[in-house]
Amino acid sequence: MPITTFASGEGLAYRPDIFCFPIQIVNVCFIGDPKDEHGGWVLVDAGMPRSAKKIIKAAEERFDFPPKAIILTHGHFDHVGAIIELIEHWNVPVYAHKLELPYLTGKSDYPPADSSVHGGLISEMSPYFPHDGINLDDHVRPLPKDGSIPGMPDWEYIHTPGHTPGHISLFRQDDGTLIAGDAFVTVKQESLYKVMTQEQEISGPPKYFTTDWDKAEKSVNKLAALDPYLAITGHGEPMFGELLKDNLKLLTQKFKEIAVPEQGRYVAEKPH
Ligand SMILES: [Zn+2]
Ligand SMILES: [Zn+2]
Repeated sequence: MPITTFASGEGLAYRPDIFCFPIQIVNVCFIGDPKDEHGGWVLVDAGMPRSAKKIIKAAEERFDFPPKAIILTHGHFDHVGAIIELIEHWNVPVYAHKLELPYLTGKSDYPPADSSVHGGLISEMSPYFPHDGINLDDHVRPLPKDGSIPGMPDWEYIHTPGHTPGHISLFRQDDGTLIAGDAFVTVKQESLYKVMTQEQEISGPPKYFTTDWDKAEKSVNKLAALDPYLAITGHGEPMFGELLKDNLKLLTQKFKEIAVPEQGRYVAEKPH
């Protein structure tokens, strides 16, 4: 992995029960109140490869008890990097959308990243990113069909395909909190410079890994219609309030301009 020099900041709590921190280039979240052992907590996404120690240390500083479950927004390498060590450590079930299971049970690989979408150094390096499916065997289970999330009673999941077939986002109606995964992100993830400075800029899903742009656009529309107050995205710093509202409006109105690359292996050819 060529991008290991970017310092990971400390985590921040955005609500009493929402704690997020970056692992190099990607965010992980702990959802649950540390004072409420009965309610428990869950981990959303599992960071970069070789980050298990850091995730476990942060979790043990915050909670006196292990998570109830691990929820995956999708199975890309930067969201499941530490998953095997975390399962070994905590022995808890992992949940993902059923359409994502082939990539998590060794049946399918993701298509390779497409660096021809350009946009910066991370995009140029993306062909070196792992895109093989992993095999979690019977540790991973499909999410319930009714939209509920095990261990997260106040939340629902929303199927937001496009970036991957079984991508999900998580939403809590009560306070408008959205965990968007890579359905959209708040940083130009293709650019190493932008990732290092974490300059906020609404963006569609990371371009080099997105394979279905029509579905990706519909997914962003679905999330914008929820009118979230706080969005925690897979990459970039959380965005909230008016800034989020304005940026989501911009992204839905100008999706093709802002999100879709001008060319790429997974982009339909534009009519002349
Ligand atoms: Zn991804
Ligand atoms: Zn990602």
